[in-house]
Amino acid sequence: MERFVYADNAATTPVAEKVANEMMPFLTKYYGNASSLYSIGRDSRKAIMESREKVASLIKAQPAEIIFTGSGTEADNMALKGIMHSKRAKGKHLITSSIEHHAILHTAKTLEKEGFEVTYLPVDKDGLILIDELKAAIRPDTALVSIMMANNEIGTIEPIAEIGAICRDAGVLFHTDAVQAAGHISIDVNEMKIDLLSLSGHKMNAPKGIGALYIRKGVMINPIIDGGGQERNLRSGTENTAGIVALGVAAAEAESHMQENITRLTAMRDRLIEGVLKIPYCHLTGHPKKRLPGTASFVIEAIEGESLVLLLDLNGICGSTGSACSTGSLDPSHVLTGIGLSHDIAHGSLRLTLGVQNNEEDVDYILEKLPQVVERLRSMSPVWDAQKNCPSGLKV
Ligand code: PLP
Repeated sequence: MERFVYADNAATTPVAEKVANEMMPFLTKYYGNASSLYSIGRDSRKAIMESREKVASLIKAQPAEIIFTGSGTEADNMALKGIMHSKRAKGKHLITSSIEHHAILHTAKTLEKEGFEVTYLPVDKDGLILIDELKAAIRPDTALVSIMMANNEIGTIEPIAEIGAICRDAGVLFHTDAVQAAGHISIDVNEMKIDLLSLSGHKMNAPKGIGALYIRKGVMINPIIDGGGQERNLRSGTENTAGIVALGVAAAEAESHMQENITRLTAMRDRLIEGVLKIPYCHLTGHPKKRLPGTASFVIEAIEGESLVLLLDLNGICGSTGSACSTGSLDPSHVLTGIGLSHDIAHGSLRLTLGVQNNEEDVDYILEKLPQVVERLRSMSPVWDAQKNCPSGLKV
């Protein structure tokens, strides 16, 4: 292997050295329970408070509006179940989109089984929410709208401020799953009129297993985990101090380097996209401009996504596909079909997501290896000969 290039930062990110260094003492030295009265317990509590300030600052919230959770998934569950349960008497209707992460979609399905009603909004071919459909879907009994800030498979950034304004005008609470966006693009929960927001540490160079839910002051929500009453009675369980410290450090780093990271990653991403699109019968998925700085996503005709990922791995490149089998099903991801791709085309999906640790040489290496790998797979493909004489004519 000539080089190792990790280009799957939407799946998870490496823990930054500064983050690891600053969290380590909370595993070995200040290991006290944050509820304990002696000094190593108080040290732990103080560190949690400081982290809360840093995470709040990243999204322009108040520290008291941040609840630490065990993951982005838990934050999403808490937002949807916590709000729908608390508003049960007044409203039984939830609106979300058809391209959300399963942390939202499967939670919505559970709520349906409990008797709640859910509307799944369609998106356009770039993955953008259809605003008129949202307006039409809001009913007198709508309790919550939950629309992701940025899509994990195609990187499209939704018009969150516009959605926030519509919800606020209609008197409906608005949650956004910002797991892919937080730390990567600038977020102001007040300007964007967001009532609840989920984020996750491992998507921004903190470890796995730590997340947070922003809950705007005054929003009533039920806990989904009962116990010792930590996190203002909303999320019981002894605090993961080291994880919380790590999230705080990662949030502060992301905030202070936001603009330079956006500029550098966007330039690398665009060069990557331009190079990959030189491969015949290859198409960009997601919005061409309104997309996450590090996310490049494609469909490559007459290619099977899983074979592509495995062959890239043999060349030292980590990428991902929403094509098939990962869940044991033969269907491609709901996001790819949600933007209108046929199963055939969606089977050749490839997602390459750059992070702060990537550099221009990584992009060069991908652009050298990917066309070779595609050519090799196509040379073995029984459908390629037929396909190249009769391309799909796909415009994505
Ligand atoms: N929401 C989105 C958009 C995601 O991309 C992910 C993870 O990939 C999650 C939620 C779940 O976050 P976590 O892995 O922290 O549970």
